[in-house]
Amino acid sequence: MLVGGGGSAVPLPFRGMQVVRVPSRRRPINPRPLVAVLAAAVLTGCTGAAATAVDEPVERPVGRYASANPGSVNTLWMEGPQGLVVVDAQRSMTDGRRAVAEVRRTGRPVAAILITHAHPDHVGGIGVFSEAFPEVPVYASGATATTIATDGQGFYELTRGLPGADYAAEMTVPDRLIAPGEVLEVGGLRVETAEFGPGESESATAFYEPASGALFAGDLVAAEMTPALLEGHSCGWLTDLDRLEARFPDARTIHPGHGDPGPADELVAAQRDYLREFRELVRTATAAGSPGGAAVDEAERSSIIAGTERSYPGFPSVASLPTLMDENVRAVAAEIAAEDLATLPPSCRGS
Ligand SMILES: [Zn+2]
Repeated sequence: MLVGGGGSAVPLPFRGMQVVRVPSRRRPINPRPLVAVLAAAVLTGCTGAAATAVDEPVERPVGRYASANPGSVNTLWMEGPQGLVVVDAQRSMTDGRRAVAEVRRTGRPVAAILITHAHPDHVGGIGVFSEAFPEVPVYASGATATTIATDGQGFYELTRGLPGADYAAEMTVPDRLIAPGEVLEVGGLRVETAEFGPGESESATAFYEPASGALFAGDLVAAEMTPALLEGHSCGWLTDLDRLEARFPDARTIHPGHGDPGPADELVAAQRDYLREFRELVRTATAAGSPGGAAVDEAERSSIIAGTERSYPGFPSVASLPTLMDENVRAVAAEIAAEDLATLPPSCRGS
């Protein structure tokens, strides 16, 4: 996620576009449809081909432009038969233009742009994309579009004020609102949607293409990166992860908002572990009997950060905020202080 606009302050080495081909991980074939297909094949005198068509996911290339660290963020695109479906639009104007250039390099038309959530690092370049592809619809949930239109949390104003910020002076608001649970037909693809939050962000949309098993999870997953917990909804995020798995159980590959794509179950598990471990460290520091009492004192703050870095060494930050870890400690400490164990969802309870 979040604030940070240093993308163009220095000439940045950037990773540029990669076409991701995650190795196919065969899922066990669901026996019931297979039996049905085999029965149908026997009845029609046809064998073999129909059976393999049941459960074989389509291999669909997903392109990616990742801006440089700190605060590397992904713009992703999926190749549909009628054009590219682009997910998220970068933070800075410069990275927006670089992402557009990589998209153009495919030689394919753009059919749609989908926005996962309203944090500044995913929407700053919408205007750049809209200028490059003026006829292309930009999809977002009503909550996301409203936040983009109003800057309700003041994130864009904050981002514009950061040193070296290269941030859109005005926001471009998505022009197609996604209804809750709507299935989109874009680029010749069927894309399922689901709404989440408050968690990593106040509101978030995940996009799932069932034919290939590709899940665009936005910032519900930050793959091997220090997440932003500034909004103080680490418990909401944990329950969002449960809901994400329940809603898309057949997802094969998660293409996250930050970091590399990977097997869906592994990326969700890793994000869950990070959040639970961080909450545990903060919970220990905020216990009444801890050295600083309910407050997090300086030694406890250092200990939380050191403990996190021991478990997750070298994780780059999702935001170019040097104080991100301090902010995470502060926000989660306040969140835990306000929690009521009696009503806390099981996913958020400590060990
Ligand atoms: Zn982000």
